[in-house]
Amino acid sequence: MSESKSIKYYPESLDLETILINIRSDTQTLPTDDMRRAIFEAELGDDTYDECPTVHRFEKLAAEMTGMEAALLVISGNMGNLTALMTHARHGDEVIIDLDSHIYYYEEGGLANIAGLMPMTVKSHQGMMNPDEVRSVIRKPNLHYPIPRLICLENTHNRSGGRVVPLDLHEELCKVAREADLSIHLDGARIFNASLAAKVPVKEYTKHVDSMMFCLSKGLGAPLGSVLVGSRDFIEKADFHRKRLGGGMRQAGLIAAAGIIALEDMVDRLEEDHAHAKNLAQAINQIPGLSVDCETVETNMVYIDHSDTGLDTGHILNRLKQWGLIASGRPPYHVRMVTNLHHNSDIIDEVIRRMKLAFES
Ligand SMILES: *Cc1c(COP(=O)(O)O)cnc(C)c1O
Repeated sequence: MSESKSIKYYPESLDLETILINIRSDTQTLPTDDMRRAIFEAELGDDTYDECPTVHRFEKLAAEMTGMEAALLVISGNMGNLTALMTHARHGDEVIIDLDSHIYYYEEGGLANIAGLMPMTVKSHQGMMNPDEVRSVIRKPNLHYPIPRLICLENTHNRSGGRVVPLDLHEELCKVAREADLSIHLDGARIFNASLAAKVPVKEYTKHVDSMMFCLSKGLGAPLGSVLVGSRDFIEKADFHRKRLGGGMRQAGLIAAAGIIALEDMVDRLEEDHAHAKNLAQAINQIPGLSVDCETVETNMVYIDHSDTGLDTGHILNRLKQWGLIASGRPPYHVRMVTNLHHNSDIIDEVIRRMKLAFES
């Protein structure tokens, strides 16, 4: 890791007692000084003409770090997933997908209304799809059925609280897909969180998939951008679909420059976020009315069950706000906190102190 580790991402002389603490999401991170400098100095060209040297450097690095042949910079995770769906499957094809996946739940139905795909849903259990259930929904060709073409996996699993899908389950799901001749797309928005928590190299997760998307603008701290990785042939086709979605970019080196810093310097520090989330979870679990299933806190997310308070989620969020804490709601019973690079251990302690005050009074 470079010198940037010593950079403080929070004000030097912050008055802990009065600052508003934003612990809603890892998407709320601001670019580091190194990123701002790299953006300022980036060598640029028109990426739609394939002439941006910084994009070239970035995409080469992203492909190498994920063990894939090629990479494509996209504007958002959402665009990366949608581009992948459109590249893998044609209108009317079927995609096997977790009911609680980000693609199904949070992406405006783009899989149906833009990619034109028919979802065949399987419900995961705490982020884990059961391979037998997946096998059971893949149908043999028949005049009455759409053609199953693709399966989507997700790691870490967002709606289950950043759970890590273990490598053996991941491999088994890939095997089920291959037996049925399906392509495999991995929504790896937070794949580096998964990799660090599972102590499994990212390349092990990508080994059996055809494509993966991951985000630069979450825990890795870049201001925007995500990446699609896959075979050279896949990425060439994906480039066309990205353009069709309005994602052809010109001097995109501005995004790629920050992306290079994200990949080179910001991956290893995600462990800090994980440690902070664990501490936060354990402390909040001691507060009357609140509970956290600490076993499930594997990465940077903490889902707090407030059902014993008898209050609704909106009420809880308001109370937190009165104590200068901004969290997000997962109604009806949960509030979510996500640790990120702006939270050092003093800030985590302050969150805990305020949570106690807010709920013990
Ligand atoms: C955030 C996220 C996305 C989408 O990323 P955006 O950049 O917000 O569009 C996709 N999948 C998962 C699992 C995510 O957490």
